[in-house]
Amino acid sequence: MPQARTVQTVCSHDCPDSCSVLVTIDETGKATKVQGDPSHPVTRGFLCGKVAKYLDRVYSPARLLYPMRRKPGAAKGRRASGRETDAFEPISWDQALDLVGERLERISREHGPESILPYSYAGNMGVLGYGSMDRRFFHRLGASQLDRTICATAGADALISVYGKKLGTEPENFRHARYILAWAANIHGNNIHLWPFVEEARRNGAKLVVIDPYRTRTARAADWHIPIQPGTDTALALGMMRLIIEEGLYDRDYVERHTHGFAALHEHVQPFTPEHVAGLTGIAAADIELLAREYATHTPSVIRLNYGIQRSQNGGAAARAVCMLPALIGSWKHPGGGMQLSLSGAFPFDSTTLERPDLMLASPLERPARIVNMSRLGHALTELDSPPVKALFVYNSNPAAIAPNQNAVVRGLMRDDLFTVVHEQFFTDTTDYADVVLPATTFLEHKDFQGAYGHYYLQLSEQAIEPLGEARSNVALFSQLARRMGFSEACFGDSVDDLIEQALGGNADELLKKRRVYQQAAAESIQHGVFATPSGKIEFYSSALAAQGLDPLPSYRPPDESRRGADAHTFPLEFLPRKADNYMNSTFANLPSHQKMESPGFVMMHASDAGPRQICDQDWVEIYNGRGKIRLRARVDGSVPAGVVAASLNWNKLSAGGNNVNALTSERLTDLGRAATFYSTLVEVRKLAPEEAQNHFPPID
Ligand code: SF4
Repeated sequence: MPQARTVQTVCSHDCPDSCSVLVTIDETGKATKVQGDPSHPVTRGFLCGKVAKYLDRVYSPARLLYPMRRKPGAAKGRRASGRETDAFEPISWDQALDLVGERLERISREHGPESILPYSYAGNMGVLGYGSMDRRFFHRLGASQLDRTICATAGADALISVYGKKLGTEPENFRHARYILAWAANIHGNNIHLWPFVEEARRNGAKLVVIDPYRTRTARAADWHIPIQPGTDTALALGMMRLIIEEGLYDRDYVERHTHGFAALHEHVQPFTPEHVAGLTGIAAADIELLAREYATHTPSVIRLNYGIQRSQNGGAAARAVCMLPALIGSWKHPGGGMQLSLSGAFPFDSTTLERPDLMLASPLERPARIVNMSRLGHALTELDSPPVKALFVYNSNPAAIAPNQNAVVRGLMRDDLFTVVHEQFFTDTTDYADVVLPATTFLEHKDFQGAYGHYYLQLSEQAIEPLGEARSNVALFSQLARRMGFSEACFGDSVDDLIEQALGGNADELLKKRRVYQQAAAESIQHGVFATPSGKIEFYSSALAAQGLDPLPSYRPPDESRRGADAHTFPLEFLPRKADNYMNSTFANLPSHQKMESPGFVMMHASDAGPRQICDQDWVEIYNGRGKIRLRARVDGSVPAGVVAASLNWNKLSAGGNNVNALTSERLTDLGRAATFYSTLVEVRKLAPEEAQNHFPPID
């Protein structure tokens, strides 16, 4: 009889903290407890509220445990009964692999392999689960390549353009800061393991300032909350830089030794006087001056920039401008100074060996396949031609809920001629449109390894329990499907340990032995003046961007969908489709314990916007624009400034109107990184009459 034991895993949800999670297993092999690893320098023994109850998720009676196919004649779409099982019947894995393999083969033969589109993102952040055997499979198939841009590429490109790599201040060093600027960063809501370091700094006298249009949990706990108008962060950062330069508060020596393009920057920021910036951002000129002076003189100051800032039409420019601030004042010289957006550049995985893009040459295409942007899925499913998308294979994602322009996405998913496979842990909004549903493992049920974007520890995640039911990992699924489709390359037989070795080369042994490896050289490289930019310095001015026809310096331009845009007279309110604090994007939204913490279903309004529309707190309202409409209850509680409304992401099937915030968002892309522009969305709001406050988006049955 096996003994009770503890297994070290890593939380694979899309979060900067990548916690080390200890799982207690009883004699029967069942997990009985999860806890944060006290020995991990950032996890420090605790888990967030989302994962502290993780066994509710793993052992949920709603888990998908067996492969299923759509019953003959069962229409695609949400079931009026609420019972997804009405539309599906169980099949064996053999039947499922045969069915999927045969359909993909036929579609490839009839329409070309590029008519098959994989759709995945960071629902699983394990390196192997995120992208390894799956990429090999789709490359060998010749399927369209997915441009995975939905979350972070505008900010990532911005950070890389300034520093050459995605690196920054390590969380443990925030404790030494004297001034902490949380810029579009809800640390308390979705980066909770940074919070104890912030609190330690504050106990030692540091000031916490939050710049965010929304009064987040973090803003409520801060010393100063600055509610900026959405999409105007570039102007604020340029204005701060102007004042810092004009008042001689910048670090001349650091700028001279470590930066490139200062003279051009100096000239570029001239128009951004405090008064001009005040008019653009809605922040008082005196506050802009105070902020710039405090930031430059409270040494060391540090910025926690998060990805909200770059989900705006000109979000790349905004992230670039903010990234330049610590270089201007030389705060990188001090422990506790600098900034953090993402640290994921610290982990040198060999993604080419893992993903094998060369296999595209062995596909029927015999060339690299076309690239389809995941933030334009609606377009891909309804308009793309030559060839049209005929098969969609979804894993690690829930596009019916999270992709922008939801009405177009759903129209596409409803197509009878689209064959859709979904590998999932639960029935989601996307499985409502699936032809085949395959059960997926949680991070407790498979082995993987993981970096992080919020700390510098590479970690091994052991398998803690046997897969529930017949759930299979991504690696197992795509390896077996490849074999079923006759792909004979040896790489499809690689085990998880083989893949770890291939990804890490000579570093694999150290990880397998130590389980956690600190990336010291990467953590210290900015302090040591190592920058992987073309100039070898921090780049205020980017010749590389100029060569691509992009702005070499970050320019402020209002988003097309903003109060300064052409459509503002029709749709005058700027909409923030926020992430829920207690869900992970759309993950966890179906669990009752998480729903209790979140209380979803509200749109936040300012009294000055609610009043003229005769809207009172708790009234049912419709939020609409030219793309769609959703129904929520109004909350008039001071969470947003005038001209801004905000609501959080929920599942469509759990929302009053049968759809969510993405019914309103557009497929427009960012200035850098081809990313989604969720936070550049204009809407209008109207009060619903009592008889209208019914479900007028009937499900299909
Ligand atoms: S979601 Fe983030 S904070 Fe929560 S356990 Fe996972 S990594 Fe840690």
